[in-house]
Amino acid sequence: PNVKALEDEVAKYSDVSYGIGVASGSDALMVALMALDVAPGDKVITTPYTFFATAGAISVLGAVPVFVDIDPVTYNMNPVALARVLRKSRKGVKAIMPVHLYGQSADMAGINRTAKKYGIPVVEDAAQSIGAEYKGKRVGSLGDIACYSFYPTKNLGCFGDGGMIVTKKKSLADKVRKLRVHGSGKRYYHDLIGINSRLDELQAAVLRVKLKKLNKWTKARQRNARNYDRLFKDFELAGCCVELPLIGKEYKSIYNQYVIRTQKRDKLRSFLAKNDIGSEIYYPLGLHEQKCYKELGYKKGDFPETEKAAKETLALPIYPALTLKQQQYVVEKISEFYCS
Ligand SMILES: *Cc1c(COP(=O)(O)O)cnc(C)c1O
Repeated sequence: PNVKALEDEVAKYSDVSYGIGVASGSDALMVALMALDVAPGDKVITTPYTFFATAGAISVLGAVPVFVDIDPVTYNMNPVALARVLRKSRKGVKAIMPVHLYGQSADMAGINRTAKKYGIPVVEDAAQSIGAEYKGKRVGSLGDIACYSFYPTKNLGCFGDGGMIVTKKKSLADKVRKLRVHGSGKRYYHDLIGINSRLDELQAAVLRVKLKKLNKWTKARQRNARNYDRLFKDFELAGCCVELPLIGKEYKSIYNQYVIRTQKRDKLRSFLAKNDIGSEIYYPLGLHEQKCYKELGYKKGDFPETEKAAKETLALPIYPALTLKQQQYVVEKISEFYCS
């Protein structure tokens, strides 16, 4: 009963009709692609600047990830680069999978326009972005089907692993619901070949309690982001030593991460660690440069914005319970690093 109730609550939260719980965000991506009949040899377009699971879901189905570079401001799929790839060849492309990285939506107007032109479905990887908005609409409602992760580092995290698929389309929802239980609608009768991917009742119960607090936590993260923006300006670091996340009016980020750019990133990170300040690099390598994707034939320089972001970005603490005093300490230390 908690799984069922959570599915309805998360669907409603996402402004869509259907939610289907699965065992993880990675499974959500894989099952969503299975529901779109992605099969060996097919192509799925995504970005190389994301957590591995995005491309991994494509590859484990025997399909091939086709990468397009990111926009340097949003860190998400560049719609112009997407259009360019499809203009060259549309052959075999079964889906487009933009990622809403760091809590911020991709430029979905541009992506959907191109997807529609070529008649290709859009799968949103919204693992990091539950509740984020684009032009007043929630992520999860912006493509054909969308995927969430409830891993503890996400804004809505459970006490282990969990994920969900949301969609407006009944046909896709029905198919996903079967695929997560070995393709069966009626027990022991299998219409499709699926997998076992359950969201368990215990996680759903935890998530239902936490979902009620999600908006409050999101507001706290947004407040913390504004605090950093102001502090970096007060310390005269913004725009010279540190580039702040620039978010356009049409985007409302839920700040899964607050990510700055800087030239001396690795040295800054060690300095912060010495001062007991946690930080993280998401992600140190574009997926096209990963060892396991050597055979895709990409080379260094193929996705310059991804490679630049991988060298320059650093995520600072942004969690809801962070205090202004702690944030002042973080920015003071960054100032000390650059100015002394
Ligand atoms: C976390 C994450 C996933 C995978 O979710 P899991 O629940 O860890 O399997 C997929 N894509 C992105 C962008 C993520 O951040």
